[in-house]
Amino acid sequence: MNRFEEEFELLLKCKKPIIEVVTYEWQKLQTAVNAIAGANLTKWKRWNQSVGIVDTDGSIEPIKDPLALLRKYRDDQDSYYLILENFNLFMNNAEVINLLFEIVKMKKVKQKSLIIETSDVCLPSALAKEIAVLDMPLPDRDFIKKIAQSVIINTELATDRYAITEQLLNSVLGLTTTEVELAFLKAVQKYGRLDDSVIDYLISEKEHIIKKDGLLEYYHVSDGMDNIGGLKSLKNWLSLRGKAFTQTASEFGLDTPKGVLLLGLPGCGKSLTAKCIAKSWNYPLLRFDLGKVFGGVVGQSEANMRRALDVAKTIAPCVLWIDEIEKGLSGLGSSDRTDGGTASRVFGTLLTWMQEKKEPVFVVATANNIEQLPPELLRKGRFDEIFFVDLPSFEERKEIFRIHLAQKKRDPKGFDLDLLAEKTNGLTGAEIGSLIADSLFDAFSQGKDIDTDGIIAVRRKLTPISTVMSEKIAAIREWAKNRARIAGDEFTEEIQGTEQVVRLKTECYNPLLG
Ligand code: ATP
Repeated sequence: MNRFEEEFELLLKCKKPIIEVVTYEWQKLQTAVNAIAGANLTKWKRWNQSVGIVDTDGSIEPIKDPLALLRKYRDDQDSYYLILENFNLFMNNAEVINLLFEIVKMKKVKQKSLIIETSDVCLPSALAKEIAVLDMPLPDRDFIKKIAQSVIINTELATDRYAITEQLLNSVLGLTTTEVELAFLKAVQKYGRLDDSVIDYLISEKEHIIKKDGLLEYYHVSDGMDNIGGLKSLKNWLSLRGKAFTQTASEFGLDTPKGVLLLGLPGCGKSLTAKCIAKSWNYPLLRFDLGKVFGGVVGQSEANMRRALDVAKTIAPCVLWIDEIEKGLSGLGSSDRTDGGTASRVFGTLLTWMQEKKEPVFVVATANNIEQLPPELLRKGRFDEIFFVDLPSFEERKEIFRIHLAQKKRDPKGFDLDLLAEKTNGLTGAEIGSLIADSLFDAFSQGKDIDTDGIIAVRRKLTPISTVMSEKIAAIREWAKNRARIAGDEFTEEIQGTEQVVRLKTECYNPLLG
């Protein structure tokens, strides 16, 4: 029995008058109610507006009006659990709320509970304290195994030929029961089997389903940590954290890493780092578009947030990458005035989850604009560490050149890396990458290969972002001084007023332009 089932059974046994279950899984809810009702020797029924009350023996009472239904339930002397399907549609009706209040106040003599099934929490504030709310989790590996077994039996596959492996189960984690079942059935239909040979197909189905929501995107990553030039201190920190997800580490006393916030200038490798973490830890990477949580239908935002976090929790261990987190949170300050506080509440859900999560979901949040970051996000307990990713230093630029030249299948030894690093003072990693890409175009049109001089010639034509944004860079460095660790390896842990820092700042404010 999982935590949800235990809690649900307890509430029903305690005769909690109204329980709201947040789920997309109506079948699973009915199975759970059926099992508990059986154990408690209690009947259960379900109601929906188009049919009325449906008993487990199939008989129907055609009461379709929600008010008539609630009155009947209130006055009924029988003991039974009643599931109300899609009842959120009626939760803003004053008479409905009054009747629910009467039901809450009824003496708890009978074994009676109303179970509101909904995909989104829909409690009017007046009732919030009276109703228990439970989140039904997405199917876990044990449940998925049962689905696989039933699909194998129902499709008459030879059971002895198909081992249901851990990898097969993992490939559909994060989907609802119906989605898992359909993905398995499609695999059987297409390949005539349900074993490890269809895992790629199942993963592509999952990616497709998750992407449909628009909140999360499954990323395929091929780059490991070797593809990041510099950022040594960050890489060391990550390599220690990567070892902390094992049972042995937890028995040793290590806390499960929560996540990291990477702040800095655009194009300096923050997103690249998020991707490389997933690859080097061998975890799936989910990109979370926080901005989309707030889009769509009013009232949908909370459900969106819960759904996204639910998927991440179920897929765990995984890396959850929140790109440009500040954009998703912009306008939070005025939220109370503009949207009745929805944005603040949704943000609160995210913060609480980050603070309390036990699952190995490693959050990598990236941000370019510190001014838009709400202070609550930076408080201790949300992230394990905040890193400031600065413009690459001389040595880092050399490394970035080495990596990008090798990626273009050129031997870095054939280039004067010291000269290139000197001439690219103040450039971001992305700009160095684009120098090489542009030089390739020039060289190709001239019928020769790229060389150091060609790259320097392209460099002369480029105005680096650090020149355009010099004031912003100064501000972000000032901000980061006592609040963040340096991701690179040039300096001591924090940006102090050391000579080295001053040297770097001088370098960057007065870039040698060629
Ligand atoms: P943004 O906020 O604009 O996304 P970012 O800091 O996340 O900026 P990335 O997207 O990681 O920057 O960088 C863009 C590209 O620049 C990378 O895909 C990579 O090709 C190159 N790059 C940036 N920094 C580095 C680095 N330190 N080492 C190697 N390549 C880098």
